[in-house]
Amino acid sequence: MSAITHTTERMPAGLRVVRSVAELRATVAGWRRGGHSVGVVPTMGAIHAGHLALVRQAAADCDRVICTLFVNPKQFSPSEDFLRYPRDEAGDAAKFASAGAHLVFAPEVETMYPPGHQTSVIVRGVTAPLEGVARPHHFEGVATVVAKLLLQCLGDAAYFGEKDYQQLRTITRMAADLDIPTRIVPVPTVREADGMALSSRNAYLSPEERRRAPVLHRTLEDVAERIGAGQIPAAAAAWGIDVLSEAGFGPIDYLGVADAETLEPLSVFDRPARILVAAWLGQTRLIDNIPATPAR
Ligand code: AMP
Repeated sequence: MSAITHTTERMPAGLRVVRSVAELRATVAGWRRGGHSVGVVPTMGAIHAGHLALVRQAAADCDRVICTLFVNPKQFSPSEDFLRYPRDEAGDAAKFASAGAHLVFAPEVETMYPPGHQTSVIVRGVTAPLEGVARPHHFEGVATVVAKLLLQCLGDAAYFGEKDYQQLRTITRMAADLDIPTRIVPVPTVREADGMALSSRNAYLSPEERRRAPVLHRTLEDVAERIGAGQIPAAAAAWGIDVLSEAGFGPIDYLGVADAETLEPLSVFDRPARILVAAWLGQTRLIDNIPATPAR
């Protein structure tokens, strides 16, 4: 039996799970010979409707869809939730299949980072503020793993959620800077009816915290309204931080109004902006963001 067939597994839902880069490349090459376009959806699993919006968009745009499933140790700091991050490969694969995926690429850590691995990808500028202050090595881990996944899959397009807006901007910058021949496609944030952004980490919230959590999104909207009405961004952000503190959030890592492309802080609301927040509710760190465009 060749190594290639050996590493293939079939999930109950019939979706193929590939663990080696060689088999992934052979499959994609076959699709290409058949004239098929290829979309890629990188995830860390614990799949919910937010992730599935990415898969559906990829399936609408591309003939074949690869979902990647890899909890990347390099983007977690030692104090973060790498070990307790929820893992359910079979359940995730069934959800991917239901949204139109054709293959799951789920490499082992040793496949992504074999002994002797020494290269990492550092994106400057856009990674410096906000999450870059709160989680200093996070985007190096993200950029490294996403560069590898994009080069392993060599898809026509790869889909990323606006939920992780600074990550989306970082990956867009990286793909342009490294001439990675894959289009980076943003997908809007999927929310609950009360405005709460879907996230794998919402599962950590107690019922009482979950009831309070929508204040996060509502505060972003209120800050957008304030800067739209002429309040200077720094004052509106300071107001938002007070609101969140009073609602029981803390610490609040940041709440800021930034240039929508570079993520530099905006002192005047005179161009497309993004309002971004990261705040703790009990033991859970929540992030969210919304767009804001000045009226002309
Ligand atoms: P993760 O597995 O958390 O790294 O997320 C994988 C991808 O799904 C990333 O591109 C995220 O931005 C995206 N994503 C996560 N939550 C949502 C959401 N609520 N709406 C849209 N995309 C999301």
